[in-house]
Amino acid sequence: MKRPTKVTLDQHTCRIQWSPKEIGRLSQGYRVSGDHEPGLIRIGPGLSRRYEKITLLHELLHEVFNRARVKLPMKQEEYVLNNIDEWVYLMLRDNPALVAYLTEEAS
Ligand SMILES: [Zn+2]
Repeated sequence: MKRPTKVTLDQHTCRIQWSPKEIGRLSQGYRVSGDHEPGLIRIGPGLSRRYEKITLLHELLHEVFNRARVKLPMKQEEYVLNNIDEWVYLMLRDNPALVAYLTEEAS
């Protein structure tokens, strides 16, 4: 499956860059594998396919928070997303009928 290079959220487009170089920023002692600014997500190299997808989903959820104007201190936002990103991923991965239902054209 091809890696996406953009994701739309309603009228808004978020670009996704698959960086060949380490993102490099350290956050609370952890090297971050992805980062996010409004409208742009960068994902670093060398992640397992599963973790790469969870990282992309995590960064997209930051974008959702941003677009929805959910204002949390970054530490709290990271806490929330770090605790739900893998669960959202598993829900989508393990329920293709749900994804098909959610994404079918509304009649
Ligand atoms: Zn984050």
